[in-house]
Amino acid sequence: MAYAITQTCCTDASCVSVCPVNCIHPAPGEPDFGHTDMLYIDPHTCIDCGACADACPVDAVLPVDMLTGPLENYAEINAAYYADRSPTAAEPDPAPNFHQWDAPVFDRNIPSDFGPLDVAVVGTGPAGMYTVEDLLLHTNSRVTLLDRLSTPGGLIRYGVAPDHPSTKKIGDTFARFHDHPRLRLRLGVEVGTNTTPQQLDADHDAVIYAVGASAARELDLPGEELAGSLAATTVVAWYNGHPEVPVDAVELNTERIVIIGNGNVALDVARILTADPDTLADTTVPADVLARLRSSKIREVVLLGRRGPEHAAYTAPELRALAGQDSPELVVDDHDPRVSTTIDAAEAGEKAHLLRDLPRETVDWAALPSSDRNRVVLRFHSAPTEFHGDSEVRALRVTGTDGDTDIATTRVIRAVGYRGTPISGLPFDATTATIPNTAGRVADQPGTYVVGWAKRGPSGGIGTNRECARETVGSLLDDAVTGAVTTSGGRDTVLSGLYRRIRGRLPSR
Ligand code: NAP
Repeated sequence: MAYAITQTCCTDASCVSVCPVNCIHPAPGEPDFGHTDMLYIDPHTCIDCGACADACPVDAVLPVDMLTGPLENYAEINAAYYADRSPTAAEPDPAPNFHQWDAPVFDRNIPSDFGPLDVAVVGTGPAGMYTVEDLLLHTNSRVTLLDRLSTPGGLIRYGVAPDHPSTKKIGDTFARFHDHPRLRLRLGVEVGTNTTPQQLDADHDAVIYAVGASAARELDLPGEELAGSLAATTVVAWYNGHPEVPVDAVELNTERIVIIGNGNVALDVARILTADPDTLADTTVPADVLARLRSSKIREVVLLGRRGPEHAAYTAPELRALAGQDSPELVVDDHDPRVSTTIDAAEAGEKAHLLRDLPRETVDWAALPSSDRNRVVLRFHSAPTEFHGDSEVRALRVTGTDGDTDIATTRVIRAVGYRGTPISGLPFDATTATIPNTAGRVADQPGTYVVGWAKRGPSGGIGTNRECARETVGSLLDDAVTGAVTTSGGRDTVLSGLYRRIRGRLPSR
């Protein structure tokens, strides 16, 4: 019996670092790393030790014989990744192989009498916490961790869908660092309101911004501002109980909701809005939000993709999770002949192949949904062009090769991505909505660094931030070596070496 990685994989590779037989791929340093939806265990070389399951921060690794229900296919999905890859499958290597970890995490020639750095990290989401982890575990820095909210966690707390408790569990792993003796947690402190970048600079040797991308991208379409047109960021914050989003921010007294975009955020929203409310009762959904979900009139959620099924923005595990639920029914709108052609021609492993078993139907969009059951309709090749209505949305016009179609609806959720917002006193690239940087070093601001979505834009899941943080912390350490960053504490604190050299395996979580 082998283990398999399943739907909630966060790709942060904690499992890779503890595997004694190097059977989890793609691993850091391999070309595919960061480019697959998840990591995969090779069943031919797995020795069933379970070390990966213990190390996984999101409970994604399970023994194959425990895979049931929607997870049943994951043994096959893991094995399929290795089907065409040799020699791993053909010649299992029983010898422990730590090749990707045999270099120190940070290998810098630091002067031995260099005192600890005082580093401020702004933001307690995943990017901030992977940064904190590197600073605390691999350097002797003292960290001041700030967040503008009084509850830490960032997107883990207020972004990850409440019906993904395993994913939210990584928040517990991060929270362990809040009590670290070299960390000072300052909540309810907003840069720009309660403090400034200049003040943080004055109080610390280095400042790392992990402020994410909290605003919603806009479409710039006529009628976008009408009542009933909502940003997905609002809906996500609403069902996660964000303190700044009131319970009446989202009205569900409508039969059809159209979601523009088909990324993972769109799928999260579709899943929560169509879930049986009883299944959310034991989650972090606030009681007043759950009451609204219970009285919801929604029967149909439409996921609108401007491109074809081969280019859908969702990842395969998230689509499988939606398709694997008993309810809602998932239907593909067959309005454009390219949709069926693409799905039918798709080969295993291709995105469009995921849709091959779903019912297809040509939907009458002028009418409201007739089915009594909750359903989600995937409509492709449809770009939104206009929101219709007087004071409230009455229809969304979309266009494709079959011309314009008006979809009757009074609620449209815009799930077209997040956008960073500028912080006074820091540079801001309005085109990418990021803080301009090179490998995490903020342009023209020595001692100032950036990590996560504020550094690279709003894409990538939780685990993507681990490598991203490592790069930014590496840049900071390089600057400490060259003297571009110095310690205000001077050299009176004599240490045997600034950075612990970590050879072999990373410490397990
Ligand atoms: P996303 O993955 O970038 O998806 C944005 C969607 O909006 C795409 O379908 C995109 O279409 C569409 N779009 C953009 N501009 C548009 C326009 N002008 N008109 C029509 N459609 C437009 O963004 P996201 O869903 O906000 O997710 C952000 C990141 O968080 C992603 O990396 C995602 O995987 C991650 N995330 C992961 C999870 C998870 O793992 N469970 C959950 C939530 C979020 P095109 O593809 O055609 O551009």
